[in-house]
Amino acid sequence: MRMHRMTSTTARHLRRVVLQAAVDAGAACTGMSLDVFFRGDETDIEWRPRRTTALRICAGCPVRAACEELALRDGEGDPEADEIVRGGLTGPELAAARDAHAVRLAVAVDADRDTEGSRLDALMAERYVLATTSTERVRDGKRVPPTVVQLEHNERIRTLNLEIARTRTARRAQAGWAVAA
Ligand code: SF4
Repeated sequence: MRMHRMTSTTARHLRRVVLQAAVDAGAACTGMSLDVFFRGDETDIEWRPRRTTALRICAGCPVRAACEELALRDGEGDPEADEIVRGGLTGPELAAARDAHAVRLAVAVDADRDTEGSRLDALMAERYVLATTSTERVRDGKRVPPTVVQLEHNERIRTLNLEIARTRTARRAQAGWAVAA
C-alpha cells in the first residue's frame, strides 16, 4: 500500500480539527456547568474560590495543552478582565500568552480561517492517492478493457481536477488575481 505524505501546510490546516477532537474526547469539564469557568455578576471575593476550583480542574485535565492552544487561537482572554478560566489559565494569563506567542498564533489563525486552502489540500491529497493507485490491468502484454470500477476511478480523478481548478481560481480571485486566473 502506498503511503500519502502529509505536507506541513496540510498539517497546519488540520491542527485545529485535531485539537478540537482531543478536547471533545478528553475534557475534564465535560458535563460541568459553564458557570464554573465563567464569572457572572460576582464580586472578586465570590469569584476567587470558584476560579481556584476551575484552575484545579484544568490542572488535572488530560487535554489542558490542547484546550489552551484552542483558547489562544480563539483570542480568549482580556488583560483587564479576570472573568474566565480556560485551558488552565485566567483571562489575563491567556492575554499574556497571546502576546508572548503573537507571531505563531497569527499563522495558526490564518490557517484556521483559510477554509479554501484547507479544502484545496484535501482535494489534492485525494487526487494524489487515486492517481498513485492504478486500476489498469494488463494481460499477455495487452491492456484489458476498463471495468466499471476503473471508469469510476477515472471519472473521480476528472471531477477532482475540475474542483481543484475551481478552488484555485476562487483563491486567486480572493487574493486579487481574478484577471490572471
Ligand atoms: S483544560 Fe480546563 S477548560 Fe480546558 S477542557 Fe480541560 S477542564 Fe475544560
